[in-house]
Amino acid sequence: MTDNTTPQRTELSALGEFGLIDHLTSGIKIFHKSTLKGVGDDAAVIDNGDSVTLVSKDLLVEGVHFDLTYTPLRHLGYKAAVVNISDIVAMNGTATQMLVGISVSNRFSVEALDELYAGIRLACEKYKVDLVGGDTTSSVSGLFLSITVIGKVKKEDVVYRSTARENDLICVSGDLGGAYIGLLLLEREKQVYKANPQMQPELEGNDYVLERQLKPEARVDVLVKLREAGVKPTAMIDISDGLASEVLHLAKDSGLGCRIFEDKIPVDVVTADIAAEFQIDPTTAAMNGGEDYELLFTVDVNDFEKVKSIKDIHIIGHMLEKAEGEYLISNGGSMYPIEAQGFNHMRED
Ligand code: ADP
Ligand code: MG
Repeated sequence: MTDNTTPQRTELSALGEFGLIDHLTSGIKIFHKSTLKGVGDDAAVIDNGDSVTLVSKDLLVEGVHFDLTYTPLRHLGYKAAVVNISDIVAMNGTATQMLVGISVSNRFSVEALDELYAGIRLACEKYKVDLVGGDTTSSVSGLFLSITVIGKVKKEDVVYRSTARENDLICVSGDLGGAYIGLLLLEREKQVYKANPQMQPELEGNDYVLERQLKPEARVDVLVKLREAGVKPTAMIDISDGLASEVLHLAKDSGLGCRIFEDKIPVDVVTADIAAEFQIDPTTAAMNGGEDYELLFTVDVNDFEKVKSIKDIHIIGHMLEKAEGEYLISNGGSMYPIEAQGFNHMRED
């Protein structure tokens, strides 16, 4: 029996981030035929006739998504812009405009915000995106950064998460796990510094993973290579939460199962070496680390030869029918169910 006099209170942790989004947005009414895709992909897709407009938004919160003790503001600005552009790229689109919302406490100076904007401007310059607006407010504590990116792509070229097909090959660009290992290094040095402020950070020789964490790039170059090779992915997503979480999005949203093979997952040697120092399995860093902003996509099995010859693209597995489930095949040949851990900020685990 429910007690009608006590208002119900459900903890956010009961739902987790994705559960909460589903809960808040289920049954949302769509009024316009032009809304081709609402909630549920890397960007919303709006019909414009021959082309579509893509829109994506991200919110970054100090102390949750970034720590200013080791994140230079210029890098933060650059990364905040790039991770949004990456969501447009994940739809096979080109980012065109950006709006930037900031909320800042008086702890920040004009010079500090100039640094933040130097980073945002650099990203806009590099990816040829026009900064066309935003919003500025004060905050009682810390810095909040909310970026909206608009993009475009020809209607027949949009690639969703939900359109992979049985037997498609699963591919990933670049290498994985580096951004997470970079974060571990920065966190470790922060602890050392807190314990003894005289200590100099020991970061030399680790440039690769630090750059993966502090200065990610959106893989526009991968879209170009695929186009040149005459390959259109059947489904695509960018890797913000770790390979496990994203592969599950592709499989589940497409109504399929999948296999990925541990020995095919690309991990850089620097990442693997430093992971070993932290006694972390490089596969775990790739599967659950996140923030690599590489592209994960599926292609028709007939495109195998074309994709195989593209540098920096790795075929890591394939899609199967749903009943087969989603599994990682380890180097030893064992099957492990793929589970999303990701950065699910709202879950307490
Ligand atoms: P990504 O990791 O690619 O940025 P998210 O996991 O943040 O994507 O979001 C998944 C989907 O849910 C996207 O379509 C996003 O627009 C939507 N979404 C996230 N938060 C909300 C919200 N509070 N209200 C409505 N839609 C949301
Ligand atoms: Mg995304």
